[in-house]
Amino acid sequence: MTAAVSAAGSERRAILVVNTGSSSLKFQVFNLAGGALQCAIRGLIEGVGTTPQIRAWRGDGRELPAEGLALTPIGQIAQGGQVEQVEHPDTQSLAFDALWQWLPGQLDGARLIGVGHRVVHGGSLHSRPLRIDAPVLAELEGLAALAPLHQPHNLAPIRSLLALRPDLPQVACFDTAFHRTQPIEAELFALPMHFYDEGVRRYGFHGLSYEYVGRRIAQLAPQAGAGRVIVAHLGNGSSMCALRAGRSVATTMGFTALDGLPMGTRSGNLDPGVLLHLMRDRAMSLQQIETLLYQQSGLLGLSGLSADMRMLQASSEPRARLAIDHFTYRVAREAGSLAAALGGLDALVFTAGIGEHSAAVRAAVCDRLRWLGVEIDLQANLESRLCLSPEGAAVSTWVIPTDEERMIAEHTCTTLGLN
Ligand code: ADP
Repeated sequence: MTAAVSAAGSERRAILVVNTGSSSLKFQVFNLAGGALQCAIRGLIEGVGTTPQIRAWRGDGRELPAEGLALTPIGQIAQGGQVEQVEHPDTQSLAFDALWQWLPGQLDGARLIGVGHRVVHGGSLHSRPLRIDAPVLAELEGLAALAPLHQPHNLAPIRSLLALRPDLPQVACFDTAFHRTQPIEAELFALPMHFYDEGVRRYGFHGLSYEYVGRRIAQLAPQAGAGRVIVAHLGNGSSMCALRAGRSVATTMGFTALDGLPMGTRSGNLDPGVLLHLMRDRAMSLQQIETLLYQQSGLLGLSGLSADMRMLQASSEPRARLAIDHFTYRVAREAGSLAAALGGLDALVFTAGIGEHSAAVRAAVCDRLRWLGVEIDLQANLESRLCLSPEGAAVSTWVIPTDEERMIAEHTCTTLGLN
Protein backbone atom coordinates (compact mmCIF):
# COMPACT_ATOMS: atom_id res chain seq x y z
CA MET A 1 0.00 0.00 0.00
CA THR A 2 1.61 3.32 -1.01
CA ALA A 3 1.17 6.09 1.50
CA ALA A 4 -0.36 9.25 0.10
CA VAL A 5 1.45 12.44 0.98
CA SER A 6 -0.50 15.65 1.50
CA ALA A 7 0.59 19.07 0.21
CA ALA A 8 2.00 19.74 3.66
CA GLY A 9 4.22 16.69 3.22
CA SER A 10 2.64 14.48 5.89
CA GLU A 11 1.26 11.07 4.98
CA ARG A 12 -2.46 10.45 5.36
CA ARG A 13 -3.31 7.98 8.10
CA ALA A 14 -6.44 5.96 8.74
CA ILE A 15 -8.01 3.76 11.42
CA LEU A 16 -10.20 0.74 10.61
CA VAL A 17 -13.03 -0.09 13.00
CA VAL A 18 -14.53 -3.59 12.96
CA ASN A 19 -17.80 -4.53 14.67
CA THR A 20 -18.59 -8.21 14.15
CA GLY A 21 -21.99 -9.66 15.05
CA SER A 22 -23.32 -13.18 14.67
CA SER A 23 -24.51 -12.63 11.11
CA SER A 24 -23.06 -9.28 10.12
CA LEU A 25 -19.79 -7.39 10.05
CA LYS A 26 -19.96 -3.60 10.25
CA PHE A 27 -16.87 -1.55 9.50
CA GLN A 28 -15.76 2.05 9.19
CA VAL A 29 -12.57 3.73 8.07
CA PHE A 30 -11.72 7.01 9.75
CA ASN A 31 -9.06 9.37 8.41
CA LEU A 32 -7.01 11.16 11.02
CA ALA A 33 -7.19 14.76 9.93
CA GLY A 34 -5.36 16.98 12.40
CA GLY A 35 -6.79 15.98 15.75
CA ALA A 36 -10.17 15.01 14.24
CA LEU A 37 -11.52 11.70 13.00
CA GLN A 38 -13.32 11.91 9.66
CA CYS A 39 -15.43 9.00 8.49
CA ALA A 40 -14.06 8.05 5.04
CA ILE A 41 -15.90 4.75 4.46
CA ARG A 42 -18.61 2.89 6.30
CA GLY A 43 -20.02 -0.45 5.32
CA LEU A 44 -21.67 -3.68 6.23
CA ILE A 45 -21.33 -7.30 5.25
CA GLU A 46 -24.67 -8.99 5.90
CA GLY A 47 -25.69 -12.62 5.66
CA VAL A 48 -22.34 -13.86 6.99
CA GLY A 49 -22.52 -17.64 6.96
CA THR A 50 -25.36 -17.80 4.43
CA THR A 51 -25.36 -15.42 1.45
CA PRO A 52 -22.87 -12.69 2.27
CA GLN A 53 -23.31 -9.31 0.66
CA ILE A 54 -21.39 -6.12 1.19
CA ARG A 55 -22.60 -2.56 0.95
CA ALA A 56 -20.32 0.39 1.56
CA TRP A 57 -20.52 4.17 1.36
CA ARG A 58 -18.08 7.04 1.35
CA GLY A 59 -18.27 9.46 4.27
CA ASP A 60 -20.32 11.85 2.09
CA GLY A 61 -22.97 9.15 1.50
CA ARG A 62 -21.98 8.05 -2.03
CA GLU A 63 -22.27 4.28 -2.39
CA LEU A 64 -19.07 2.44 -3.27
CA PRO A 65 -18.96 -0.33 -5.86
CA ALA A 66 -18.55 -3.60 -3.99
CA GLU A 67 -18.11 -6.12 -6.82
CA GLY A 68 -14.43 -6.45 -5.94
CA LEU A 69 -15.36 -8.09 -2.68
CA ALA A 70 -15.52 -11.84 -3.07
CA LEU A 71 -15.89 -14.08 -0.06
CA THR A 72 -13.02 -16.45 -0.72
CA PRO A 73 -11.65 -19.04 1.69
CA ILE A 74 -8.88 -17.77 3.89
CA GLY A 75 -6.42 -20.31 2.54
CA GLN A 76 -6.51 -18.51 -0.82
CA ILE A 77 -5.37 -15.17 0.53
CA ALA A 78 -2.00 -14.26 -0.91
CA GLN A 79 0.02 -11.96 1.32
CA GLY A 80 3.30 -10.77 -0.17
CA GLY A 81 3.28 -13.68 -2.58
CA GLN A 82 2.76 -16.19 0.25
CA VAL A 83 -0.48 -18.02 0.82
CA GLU A 84 -1.46 -17.49 4.43
CA GLN A 85 -3.11 -20.19 6.51
CA VAL A 86 -4.83 -19.24 9.73
CA GLU A 87 -6.06 -21.70 12.30
CA HIS A 88 -9.75 -22.04 13.18
CA PRO A 89 -11.19 -20.32 10.09
CA ASP A 90 -14.88 -19.53 10.53
CA THR A 91 -17.43 -17.53 8.63
CA GLN A 92 -16.61 -14.27 10.44
CA SER A 93 -12.95 -14.76 9.55
CA LEU A 94 -13.93 -15.30 5.93
CA ALA A 95 -15.99 -12.12 5.90
CA PHE A 96 -13.16 -10.17 7.47
CA ASP A 97 -10.58 -11.60 5.08
CA ALA A 98 -12.74 -10.62 2.12
CA LEU A 99 -13.00 -7.10 3.55
CA TRP A 100 -9.24 -7.06 4.05
CA GLN A 101 -8.65 -7.86 0.36
CA TRP A 102 -11.18 -5.31 -0.83
CA LEU A 103 -10.17 -2.42 1.41
CA PRO A 104 -6.73 -1.35 0.07
CA GLY A 105 -8.26 -0.33 -3.25
CA GLN A 106 -10.68 2.02 -1.44
CA LEU A 107 -8.29 3.91 0.84
CA ASP A 108 -7.10 6.49 -1.71
CA GLY A 109 -3.56 5.73 -0.62
CA ALA A 110 -4.11 6.47 3.07
CA ARG A 111 -2.11 4.16 5.35
CA LEU A 112 -3.87 2.06 7.97
CA ILE A 113 -2.10 2.63 11.26
CA GLY A 114 -4.44 0.83 13.64
CA VAL A 115 -7.53 -1.34 13.88
CA GLY A 116 -10.15 -1.05 16.63
CA HIS A 117 -12.51 -3.93 17.41
CA ARG A 118 -15.72 -4.10 19.34
CA VAL A 119 -15.33 -6.95 21.83
CA VAL A 120 -18.41 -7.72 23.83
CA HIS A 121 -16.77 -9.04 27.02
CA GLY A 122 -13.81 -7.62 28.89
CA GLY A 123 -14.56 -9.51 32.11
CA SER A 124 -14.24 -7.89 35.52
CA LEU A 125 -10.68 -6.65 34.98
CA HIS A 126 -10.90 -4.45 31.94
CA SER A 127 -12.45 -1.05 32.45
CA ARG A 128 -10.52 0.41 29.50
CA PRO A 129 -9.73 -0.50 25.89
CA LEU A 130 -6.68 -2.70 25.50
CA ARG A 131 -3.95 -3.16 22.90
CA ILE A 132 -4.04 -6.75 21.69
CA ASP A 133 -1.22 -9.24 21.43
CA ALA A 134 -1.28 -13.04 21.51
CA PRO A 135 -1.52 -13.34 25.35
CA VAL A 136 -4.34 -10.76 25.49
CA LEU A 137 -6.19 -12.62 22.72
CA ALA A 138 -5.84 -15.86 24.69
CA GLU A 139 -7.23 -14.14 27.80
CA LEU A 140 -10.21 -12.78 25.86
CA GLU A 141 -10.86 -16.19 24.34
CA GLY A 142 -11.09 -17.47 27.90
CA LEU A 143 -14.11 -15.18 28.42
CA ALA A 144 -16.04 -16.79 25.55
CA ALA A 145 -18.11 -18.86 27.98
CA LEU A 146 -19.57 -15.59 29.34
CA ALA A 147 -20.72 -14.48 25.87
CA PRO A 148 -20.81 -17.61 23.75
CA LEU A 149 -22.83 -16.11 20.91
CA HIS A 150 -20.76 -12.91 20.61
CA GLN A 151 -17.19 -13.23 21.85
CA PRO A 152 -15.95 -15.84 19.33
CA HIS A 153 -17.30 -13.74 16.44
CA ASN A 154 -15.65 -10.59 17.82
CA LEU A 155 -12.30 -12.32 18.20
CA ALA A 156 -12.23 -14.06 14.79
CA PRO A 157 -11.04 -10.98 12.81
CA ILE A 158 -8.47 -10.17 15.51
CA ARG A 159 -6.99 -13.64 15.19
CA SER A 160 -6.92 -13.38 11.38
CA LEU A 161 -5.21 -10.01 11.46
CA LEU A 162 -2.64 -11.04 14.08
CA ALA A 163 -1.59 -13.74 11.62
CA LEU A 164 -1.78 -11.61 8.47
CA ARG A 165 -0.32 -8.35 9.81
CA PRO A 166 1.34 -8.85 13.19
CA ASP A 167 2.93 -5.40 12.82
CA LEU A 168 -0.43 -3.59 12.70
CA PRO A 169 -1.59 -2.46 16.18
CA GLN A 170 -5.03 -3.71 17.20
CA VAL A 171 -7.19 -2.48 20.08
CA ALA A 172 -10.10 -4.25 21.81
CA CYS A 173 -12.91 -1.95 22.99
CA PHE A 174 -15.23 -3.69 25.42
CA ASP A 175 -19.01 -3.40 25.73
CA THR A 176 -18.67 -4.18 29.41
CA ALA A 177 -15.96 -1.61 30.26
CA PHE A 178 -18.22 1.44 30.63
CA HIS A 179 -20.22 -0.27 33.39
CA ARG A 180 -17.25 -0.91 35.66
CA THR A 181 -18.14 2.33 37.48
CA GLN A 182 -21.24 0.64 38.92
CA PRO A 183 -21.42 0.23 42.69
CA ILE A 184 -21.13 -3.31 43.98
CA GLU A 185 -24.79 -3.33 45.04
CA ALA A 186 -25.73 -2.96 41.36
CA GLU A 187 -23.34 -5.72 40.27
CA LEU A 188 -24.46 -8.35 42.76
CA PHE A 189 -26.74 -11.32 42.33
CA ALA A 190 -28.14 -12.49 45.64
CA LEU A 191 -26.23 -15.78 45.45
CA PRO A 192 -23.61 -16.95 47.94
CA MET A 193 -20.86 -14.35 47.79
CA HIS A 194 -18.17 -16.66 46.42
CA PHE A 195 -20.01 -16.66 43.06
CA TYR A 196 -19.42 -12.90 42.77
CA ASP A 197 -15.74 -13.40 43.54
CA GLU A 198 -15.62 -16.07 40.83
CA GLY A 199 -17.04 -13.66 38.24
CA VAL A 200 -20.77 -14.44 38.41
CA ARG A 201 -21.94 -10.82 38.52
CA ARG A 202 -23.76 -8.25 36.45
CA TYR A 203 -21.39 -6.91 33.79
CA GLY A 204 -23.74 -4.94 31.54
CA PHE A 205 -23.32 -4.44 27.78
CA HIS A 206 -23.80 -1.81 25.01
CA GLY A 207 -21.23 0.28 26.91
CA LEU A 208 -19.72 1.89 23.81
CA SER A 209 -23.15 3.14 22.81
CA TYR A 210 -23.87 4.51 26.30
CA GLU A 211 -20.50 6.22 26.44
CA TYR A 212 -21.12 7.94 23.11
CA VAL A 213 -24.70 8.94 23.90
CA GLY A 214 -23.73 10.10 27.41
CA ARG A 215 -21.15 12.39 25.92
CA ARG A 216 -23.61 13.78 23.36
CA ILE A 217 -26.27 14.51 25.96
CA ALA A 218 -23.64 16.34 28.03
CA GLN A 219 -22.96 18.55 24.98
CA LEU A 220 -26.63 19.08 24.10
CA ALA A 221 -28.02 19.55 27.61
CA PRO A 222 -25.10 20.13 30.01
CA GLN A 223 -27.28 20.40 33.11
CA ALA A 224 -29.15 17.16 32.46
CA GLY A 225 -25.95 15.48 31.30
CA ALA A 226 -24.35 16.28 34.65
CA GLY A 227 -27.42 14.87 36.40
CA ARG A 228 -29.59 11.74 36.12
CA VAL A 229 -30.09 10.27 32.64
CA ILE A 230 -31.67 7.05 31.37
CA VAL A 231 -30.57 5.88 27.92
CA ALA A 232 -32.77 3.33 26.13
CA HIS A 233 -30.69 1.49 23.51
CA LEU A 234 -33.47 -0.27 21.61
CA GLY A 235 -32.29 -2.34 18.63
CA ASN A 236 -32.14 -6.02 17.79
CA GLY A 237 -30.36 -6.28 21.09
CA SER A 238 -31.91 -3.91 23.62
CA SER A 239 -30.84 -2.62 27.00
CA MET A 240 -31.12 0.49 29.15
CA CYS A 241 -28.62 2.30 31.32
CA ALA A 242 -28.84 4.76 34.20
CA LEU A 243 -26.11 7.41 34.08
CA ARG A 244 -25.24 9.81 36.85
CA ALA A 245 -22.92 12.61 35.69
CA GLY A 246 -22.12 10.55 32.59
CA ARG A 247 -21.12 7.39 34.48
CA SER A 248 -23.01 4.10 34.48
CA VAL A 249 -24.66 3.32 37.82
CA ALA A 250 -27.11 0.58 36.73
CA THR A 251 -28.09 -1.26 33.57
CA THR A 252 -30.62 -3.86 32.51
CA MET A 253 -28.29 -6.47 30.99
CA GLY A 254 -26.39 -8.55 33.51
CA PHE A 255 -24.07 -11.55 33.46
CA THR A 256 -24.89 -12.06 29.79
CA ALA A 257 -26.58 -10.04 27.05
CA LEU A 258 -29.70 -12.15 27.64
CA ASP A 259 -30.94 -10.27 30.69
CA GLY A 260 -33.26 -7.27 30.95
CA LEU A 261 -35.57 -6.21 28.13
CA PRO A 262 -37.16 -8.60 25.65
CA MET A 263 -35.29 -8.26 22.34
CA GLY A 264 -35.65 -9.31 18.71
CA THR A 265 -35.17 -13.00 19.49
CA ARG A 266 -33.89 -12.99 23.11
CA SER A 267 -36.21 -13.43 26.07
CA GLY A 268 -34.66 -10.87 28.39
CA ASN A 269 -35.31 -11.16 32.12
CA LEU A 270 -36.90 -14.47 33.13
CA ASP A 271 -37.87 -16.07 36.42
CA PRO A 272 -35.02 -18.56 36.99
CA GLY A 273 -37.70 -21.02 38.07
CA VAL A 274 -38.75 -21.24 34.42
CA LEU A 275 -35.33 -22.68 33.59
CA LEU A 276 -35.65 -25.27 36.35
CA HIS A 277 -39.06 -26.23 34.97
CA LEU A 278 -37.75 -26.56 31.40
CA MET A 279 -34.90 -28.78 32.54
CA ARG A 280 -36.73 -30.91 35.09
CA ASP A 281 -40.28 -31.23 33.79
CA ARG A 282 -39.70 -30.88 30.06
CA ALA A 283 -36.28 -32.53 29.87
CA MET A 284 -34.95 -29.80 27.60
CA SER A 285 -31.23 -29.94 26.95
CA LEU A 286 -28.81 -27.09 27.52
CA GLN A 287 -28.56 -26.60 23.77
CA GLN A 288 -32.35 -26.48 23.37
CA ILE A 289 -32.72 -23.96 26.17
CA GLU A 290 -29.93 -21.78 24.79
CA THR A 291 -31.56 -21.79 21.35
CA LEU A 292 -34.96 -21.01 22.91
CA LEU A 293 -33.69 -18.07 24.96
CA TYR A 294 -31.35 -16.52 22.40
CA GLN A 295 -33.03 -17.25 19.09
CA GLN A 296 -36.71 -18.13 19.48
CA SER A 297 -38.00 -15.73 22.12
CA GLY A 298 -38.47 -11.97 22.44
CA LEU A 299 -40.51 -10.19 19.75
CA LEU A 300 -40.23 -13.22 17.46
CA GLY A 301 -41.44 -15.68 20.08
CA LEU A 302 -44.31 -13.50 21.26
CA SER A 303 -45.57 -12.51 17.81
CA GLY A 304 -44.85 -15.78 16.03
CA LEU A 305 -44.19 -13.51 13.05
CA SER A 306 -40.95 -11.60 13.13
CA ALA A 307 -38.12 -10.22 15.26
CA ASP A 308 -38.19 -7.03 13.21
CA MET A 309 -40.07 -4.11 14.75
CA ARG A 310 -40.92 -2.68 11.31
CA MET A 311 -42.68 -5.92 10.33
CA LEU A 312 -44.61 -6.00 13.60
CA GLN A 313 -45.72 -2.41 13.25
CA ALA A 314 -46.93 -3.09 9.70
CA SER A 315 -48.88 -6.20 10.77
CA SER A 316 -52.56 -6.28 11.71
CA GLU A 317 -52.11 -9.56 13.64
CA PRO A 318 -53.19 -9.22 17.30
CA ARG A 319 -50.04 -11.09 18.40
CA ALA A 320 -47.85 -8.48 16.69
CA ARG A 321 -49.69 -5.80 18.69
CA LEU A 322 -49.26 -7.84 21.88
CA ALA A 323 -45.50 -8.21 21.29
CA ILE A 324 -45.10 -4.44 20.83
CA ASP A 325 -47.26 -3.68 23.88
CA HIS A 326 -45.23 -6.07 26.01
CA PHE A 327 -42.01 -4.49 24.74
CA THR A 328 -43.06 -0.93 25.59
CA TYR A 329 -44.43 -2.10 28.96
CA ARG A 330 -41.09 -3.67 29.82
CA VAL A 331 -39.10 -0.62 28.67
CA ALA A 332 -41.27 1.58 30.90
CA ARG A 333 -40.96 -0.81 33.86
CA GLU A 334 -37.18 -0.89 33.55
CA ALA A 335 -37.17 2.92 33.31
CA GLY A 336 -38.98 3.03 36.65
CA SER A 337 -36.39 0.71 38.17
CA LEU A 338 -33.46 2.70 36.77
CA ALA A 339 -35.03 5.97 37.96
CA ALA A 340 -35.12 4.42 41.45
CA ALA A 341 -31.39 3.60 41.15
CA LEU A 342 -30.79 7.26 40.17
CA GLY A 343 -33.16 8.78 42.74
CA GLY A 344 -35.08 10.66 40.03
CA LEU A 345 -34.73 11.59 36.39
CA ASP A 346 -33.55 14.63 34.42
CA ALA A 347 -33.37 13.26 30.86
CA LEU A 348 -34.53 10.25 28.86
CA VAL A 349 -32.70 9.37 25.64
CA PHE A 350 -33.73 6.95 22.88
CA THR A 351 -31.11 5.42 20.61
CA ALA A 352 -30.40 2.46 18.20
CA GLY A 353 -32.65 1.11 15.43
CA ILE A 354 -36.00 1.12 17.26
CA GLY A 355 -35.17 4.02 19.57
CA GLU A 356 -34.06 6.26 16.72
CA HIS A 357 -36.74 5.35 14.20
CA SER A 358 -39.91 4.07 15.83
CA ALA A 359 -42.11 7.03 16.77
CA ALA A 360 -44.84 4.58 17.86
CA VAL A 361 -42.60 2.78 20.37
CA ARG A 362 -41.26 6.08 21.75
CA ALA A 363 -44.79 7.49 22.09
CA ALA A 364 -46.02 4.38 23.93
CA VAL A 365 -43.03 4.33 26.30
CA CYS A 366 -43.28 8.05 27.04
CA ASP A 367 -47.01 7.75 27.64
CA ARG A 368 -46.35 5.05 30.25
CA LEU A 369 -43.76 7.33 31.90
CA ARG A 370 -45.87 10.48 32.32
CA TRP A 371 -45.94 9.86 36.08
CA LEU A 372 -42.16 10.35 36.08
CA GLY A 373 -42.44 13.79 34.43
CA VAL A 374 -41.86 12.57 30.86
CA GLU A 375 -43.80 14.69 28.37
CA ILE A 376 -43.25 14.87 24.60
CA ASP A 377 -44.42 16.97 21.67
CA LEU A 378 -46.20 14.48 19.37
CA GLN A 379 -45.16 16.25 16.18
CA ALA A 380 -41.51 16.39 17.27
CA ASN A 381 -41.75 12.67 17.99
CA LEU A 382 -43.30 11.87 14.60
CA GLU A 383 -40.42 13.74 12.93
CA SER A 384 -37.81 12.02 15.17
CA ARG A 385 -36.40 15.42 16.11
CA LEU A 386 -33.39 15.61 18.39
CA CYS A 387 -35.37 16.98 21.34
CA LEU A 388 -38.92 15.66 21.85
CA SER A 389 -39.95 17.45 25.03
CA PRO A 390 -41.54 20.90 25.23
CA GLU A 391 -39.73 23.77 26.92
CA GLY A 392 -39.95 23.49 30.68
CA ALA A 393 -40.75 19.75 30.83
CA ALA A 394 -39.61 18.20 34.12
CA VAL A 395 -37.72 15.52 32.15
CA SER A 396 -36.21 16.36 28.77
CA THR A 397 -36.55 13.60 26.16
CA TRP A 398 -34.13 13.09 23.28
CA VAL A 399 -33.43 10.99 20.19
CA ILE A 400 -29.67 10.67 19.76
CA PRO A 401 -28.28 8.42 17.01
CA THR A 402 -25.60 6.23 18.52
CA ASP A 403 -22.15 5.86 16.95
CA GLU A 404 -20.30 2.94 18.50
CA GLU A 405 -17.80 2.89 15.62
CA ARG A 406 -16.67 6.48 16.27
CA MET A 407 -16.28 5.66 19.95
CA ILE A 408 -14.09 2.67 19.03
CA ALA A 409 -12.02 4.83 16.66
CA GLU A 410 -11.46 7.39 19.42
CA HIS A 411 -10.49 4.73 21.95
CA THR A 412 -8.14 3.15 19.41
CA CYS A 413 -6.38 6.47 18.82
CA THR A 414 -6.10 7.18 22.54
CA THR A 415 -4.86 3.67 23.38
CA LEU A 416 -2.23 3.83 20.62
CA GLY A 417 -1.21 7.39 21.53
CA LEU A 418 -2.21 8.75 18.13
CA ASN A 419 -3.86 11.96 19.33
P1 ADP B 1 -28.56 -4.10 16.07
O1 ADP B 1 -28.81 -4.41 17.53
O2 ADP B 1 -28.48 -5.31 15.19
O3 ADP B 1 -27.48 -3.06 15.81
P2 ADP B 1 -30.36 -1.98 15.20
O4 ADP B 1 -29.92 -0.99 16.19
O5 ADP B 1 -29.99 -1.76 13.77
O6 ADP B 1 -29.94 -3.46 15.61
O7 ADP B 1 -31.95 -2.10 15.30
C1 ADP B 1 -32.68 -3.01 14.55
C2 ADP B 1 -34.16 -2.84 14.91
O8 ADP B 1 -34.56 -1.51 14.59
C3 ADP B 1 -35.07 -3.78 14.15
O9 ADP B 1 -36.07 -4.32 15.02
C4 ADP B 1 -35.74 -2.85 13.15
O10 ADP B 1 -37.03 -3.28 12.81
C5 ADP B 1 -35.81 -1.58 13.96
N1 ADP B 1 -36.06 -0.41 13.08
C6 ADP B 1 -35.23 0.13 12.17
N2 ADP B 1 -35.86 1.14 11.51
C7 ADP B 1 -37.10 1.22 12.02
C8 ADP B 1 -38.25 2.04 11.77
N3 ADP B 1 -38.22 2.98 10.84
N4 ADP B 1 -39.36 1.83 12.50
C9 ADP B 1 -39.41 0.86 13.44
N5 ADP B 1 -38.37 0.06 13.73
C10 ADP B 1 -37.24 0.23 13.03
